[in-house]
Parts: sequence; structure tokens; C-alpha cells
Amino acid sequence: MPDTIFSKIIAGEIPCHRVYEDEFVLAFLDINPLAAGHTLVIPKESVATVGELSDESAAAVGRVLPRICRAVMKATRTNAYNILQNNGADAHQEVMHVHFHIIPKYADRPSGQDGLGIGWRPGKLDSDVGVEMAKRIAAEIG
Ligand code: AMP
Repeated sequence: MPDTIFSKIIAGEIPCHRVYEDEFVLAFLDINPLAAGHTLVIPKESVATVGELSDESAAAVGRVLPRICRAVMKATRTNAYNILQNNGADAHQEVMHVHFHIIPKYADRPSGQDGLGIGWRPGKLDSDVGVEMAKRIAAEIG
């Protein structure tokens, strides 16, 4: 796995605005925030996507994520937020090291400073397709 800019941040070779750190996890402010308080939570394990994470790293991120969300909300005096997590270049991932964006949503700010804008074009799940797809995914989980 080639080094990314996040490996360099973990190693202390590049500075960051750190908000949390433990043995497995680091959280710091995004350098190009979608809104004030936009925070990134990353495992120290250097893999690109969530599906590649070890159970140990995944558990460590899951354990602290709610706590960091609460802290971001309190510090920014917001009460809504999005967690965004991109996997793969086709899914808009730019830094190929797993990261969770915590993005406060400011109801009272103009578009562009209010947090994440989402293009969401839902379809409709056909029940036969749903039965088949759920079966296929469940079989892969094992
Ligand atoms: P993604 O598109 O999910 O891969 O997002 C990568 C995020 O990393 C972007 O929001 C960038 O602004 C952020 N980012 C890139 N380099 C740095 C850095 N040195 N410090 C903090 N955030 C960074």
C-alpha cells in the first residue's frame, strides 16, 4: 500500500489540526472544510477502503466515532451533521486511506458554507429484485 498524505500526517511528517488520537485512530480538521468544524477520522492502519480494514481497526474507529461526533456538535453549536465515507475513485475518494468525514450542518448559513450538499436520485426497489439481491449479499457475508 503506497503512502498517502494521511500516512505522513500519522507519522508526524506533515502537520494537522489534531482533535483526537489513540493507538489506532487519529482525528483532525479537514484542510478544505465544507463547513466550520469539518473533521476527518482515520484509522492508523494504512488501507484505502472500509472493506479492507482489520476488525481491530474497524472496532477502534467505531468506538470513538460517536464521541468525536458529539464533540464536533458541541464545539460548533450545531445539532445536525453528515458522516461521509468515500470508497474508491469512482465514489469520489481522493485520498486512498480510509477516512470518515464528520460535516456539521448549519441550517442558518448560505449554500456553500452550510455543510454537505447531496445529489440523491432514488429509484424504487422491486420486491423480486430485492429478494434476489439480499440473498446474494447475505451469502457473501458468510
Ligand atoms: P475524499 O474525497 O473523501 O478522499 O476526501 C479527502 C479529504 O481530505 C478532502 O476533504 C481534503 O480536503 C482532505 N485533505 C487532503 N489533504 C489534507 C491535509 N493535509 N489535511 C487535512 N485534510 C486534508
